[in-house]
Formats: sequence, C-alpha cells, structure tokens
Amino acid sequence: KDLEQGLEKTRNSFLHRLGKAIAGRSTVDDEVLDELEEVLLTSDVGVETTLKIIDRIKLRVAKDKYLGTNELNTILKEEIAALLSEKKDQFDQEIPLDVKPFVVLVVGVNGVGKTTTIGKLAARYKKLGKNVVLGAGDTFRAAAIDQLVSWGERIGVPVIKQQMGSDPASVAYDTVQAALNRNADVAIIDTAGRLHNKIHLMNELSKIRKVIQKVIPEAPHEVFLVIDASTGQNAFEQARQFSQATQVTSLVVTKLDGTAKGGVVIGVSDQLNIPVKYIGVGEGTEHLQPFDKHAFVESFFG
Ligand code: GDP
Repeated sequence: KDLEQGLEKTRNSFLHRLGKAIAGRSTVDDEVLDELEEVLLTSDVGVETTLKIIDRIKLRVAKDKYLGTNELNTILKEEIAALLSEKKDQFDQEIPLDVKPFVVLVVGVNGVGKTTTIGKLAARYKKLGKNVVLGAGDTFRAAAIDQLVSWGERIGVPVIKQQMGSDPASVAYDTVQAALNRNADVAIIDTAGRLHNKIHLMNELSKIRKVIQKVIPEAPHEVFLVIDASTGQNAFEQARQFSQATQVTSLVVTKLDGTAKGGVVIGVSDQLNIPVKYIGVGEGTEHLQPFDKHAFVESFFG
C-alpha cells in the first residue's frame, strides 16, 4: 500500500501519457511505439534502457505479427520485470547470518537522503533483531554528525563519532572496531557527499575501504549508493561517478513518493548493472522498503 501510494505520481503520469499515446488506436504500430518511447523517456527511464525496452517490444510484435494496444501494458510489465530480474535475485536474506559484523558503507551526494536512509536502515535492522552500530563518517558537515546522533537517540542505536573535520577513515575504523567489541551484527557507516572533486572522492573512499579492511579483510560487505529519484537524469550521472570511484554493490533510490520520475529506478539499475536493494517512499522509518521488482512494476504501470 505504501508502495502504491509512493509511486502514485509516477504511475498517474505514466498511465495518463500512455493512455493519450494509444487513444483511438487498436494495434501497436510504429507510431504507437514512437509515442511509447517518448513516454518512457519522459518518465526518466533513460535513453539506452528505453531503446532496449522498445526493441524488446518490437521483437514481440514481429513474432506475434500483431499486438493489441490493450495488451501493451501487460507486455511492458513483463519486459521491464525481465530487464530488472537479470541482476537482482540475491536478497533473500537482508543480513547474512554468517557474517558478523556485516559492514555497510553508505555513499551518495548531499541531500539525496543518505542520513535519513541510514536511520531507516538502522531502525529496520533493529526491528529484525539485529544489534546495530552507526558511524558518523561525514565529518565534513557538523549537521551530518548531529543528524546521525539524533537518529541514534531516536531509535536507540549507538553512534560512533569524532569531531567535525576529523578523518572519515578514522571514524570508519573506530566504528568497525566498536561493532566488533560490542559483538554487533551490523555496522553502517556514513560518508561525505561532496562530488565536486572526483579524485578526492576516489581517494577518500579508497582510504576508508583500506582502513576498514585492516580490521575485517572482507569488508565492507555492502556499499549502498543512495540516489534521489526526483533528480531524474542527475541520478544517472551521480551513479556513474560513484561507481567509478568505488565498488558500489547496491542502490537505494529515495524520494520516489515526491516525483513522477520513478523510471530512474529501471534505467539506473539497468545501465550501471547495479541491483536496487531498497526504495524510499516517504520520510518515516517504515517508508524504506526492500525492492521487489514485481511489486514495483505493478505499482508503476497500474
Ligand atoms: P543527506 O544530505 O543525503 O544526508 O540527506 P537527508 O537524509 O538529510 O535528507 C534530505 C531530505 O530528504 C530530508 O528532509 C528527508 O526527510 C528527505 N527524504 C529522505 N528520504 C526520503 C524519501 O524517501 N521520501 C521523501 N519524501 N523524503 C525523503
């Protein structure tokens, strides 16, 4: 229900435009496909992924010789679910039982909802019975540290921090150590979200990784890139830059509730070949949901 509400804007806008595109037409012909292409592009699915989807539908039209416009929505759902399924089946277990502490590094540009996502994740894992430790690794902004501390207080989870301006790698080290000492199940580490200097970002993230690996050689076990769906094409660019700077293992797509650009989820995951693990559909802790492609496709295409 939250998912349906969260995707309402995307769905309404998509269905409205699709409806206009096929109004008065009974078969999916080249003109309908051109209109569909336009609708997918304006839903921020992105050029490459849109063309891929259109090609797949063309193949089906060619194979079946005929496709009624009344079937178009069903076919779209199937094709897009197939596209998403190629990369994301490994999430039966949110936190593996045999890895302790499970170390999660969270990256993303300022303002995308990184801190909020960490708070929501901590609340979620705690509810699953896990002991969680947070690391205030965005030492560049005092507000980021304060915000994480207040999340920690709110949900009853310890936050490892140093003063503003200290070395983020040192905070990451302390956090992993603290997680080990406390026998915690999960450590979630925040990072700074400045993107004006790519080399700097790369160096900082690789230093954080190295330092974490001094404590636990296999860590970080997850690197979540948080992207804001409402930024549309910017989200593609950010995802590209971060995945060049470090090894991103999963995406968290936030603010799907505030936008009609939900197609970003499909495009970014497809183009960067990174699975989506969670989506944010509101500001409350309950508004972070594990990504389920079938539920998503149903909510997106009505
Ligand atoms: P950060 O700078 O990346 O750490 O961003 P914040 O976590 O401070 O979030 C920025 C704003 O986005 C805050 O007002 C959050 O409440 C809001 N926000 C985060 N995730 C979501 C979401 O999924 N939906 C909505 N509507 N707002 C969100």
